[in-house]
Amino acid sequence: MDKIIRKSLLYKSGVEYGDYTINHVIGCSHGCNFPCYAFMLSKRFGRVKSYEEWLKPKIVSNSLEILDKEILKLKDKISFVHLSFMTDPFMMGHPEVAKLSLDIIEKLNRNGIKVTTLTKGLYPDALLNKTNYDIDNEYGITLVSLDENFKKLYESYSSNYKDRIESLKKLHNAGFKTWVSIEPYPTPNIVNQDLKDILNEISFVDKIVFGRLNYNKKVSEYLWYKEFYNYCSDIVIKFCEQHNIMYHIKDGTITGDAPYIVAGYKKDTCELFFTNKKVVSIKH
Ligand code: SF4
Repeated sequence: MDKIIRKSLLYKSGVEYGDYTINHVIGCSHGCNFPCYAFMLSKRFGRVKSYEEWLKPKIVSNSLEILDKEILKLKDKISFVHLSFMTDPFMMGHPEVAKLSLDIIEKLNRNGIKVTTLTKGLYPDALLNKTNYDIDNEYGITLVSLDENFKKLYESYSSNYKDRIESLKKLHNAGFKTWVSIEPYPTPNIVNQDLKDILNEISFVDKIVFGRLNYNKKVSEYLWYKEFYNYCSDIVIKFCEQHNIMYHIKDGTITGDAPYIVAGYKKDTCELFFTNKKVVSIKH
């Protein structure tokens, strides 16, 4: 695996639910086609030249040394560190990445710094060791579908959905805090699915983040996308309230200028039902 050297690692994130973050790898073998915002940004800033290069991650080999120095400087300012907004800390097929992620989490925890993580890969069993890893850490997975055909098209190199959920459940069963990012959630013209099926699979988690799909023209091609995202946000909020789960709906997902209100979505026929509109159903 290719390696690079960096001068700094920890930085304050601008993401709405982030604090400090670490990107100890450039690139990601999952190669998602939603598209991947991290890839788009990395390409724009010249960190990678192509999608093919993005698929071959490079590890920051001096991560732990930099971290020693930066923790000393920043410790009092950090409330938690997120791994990662610009790569996947437990990407499939790269045990070196997982090993470095584990070492980073352990180092931060030993310095009293809590860690949150997010992956489309699988969590290693090593994390179940409560001596090495802080019980307050929050482990998350991204899960926007249960449809393996959709996965083949949009995140073909990530872990399969069933295994991903199971690896998170293991951490939950061991007493760790868990969360799911249902983002970027696709519209029905991209995949015909029932959001409630996804929610029911992850009802054990402590927190759910929900957000719309951006940077994909298929979303706005779906005539009722604003109504659809308002409807889905409402479903997430109600589900979380019923199951005592914390939630965060990402900015821009709920919009006030959607002319109609959706009362229901029928997966079998791919129909949206409106409450305040004469048209009862719209087929795509
Ligand atoms: S897992 Fe995340 S960082 Fe990796 S390609 Fe997919 S969206 Fe991008």
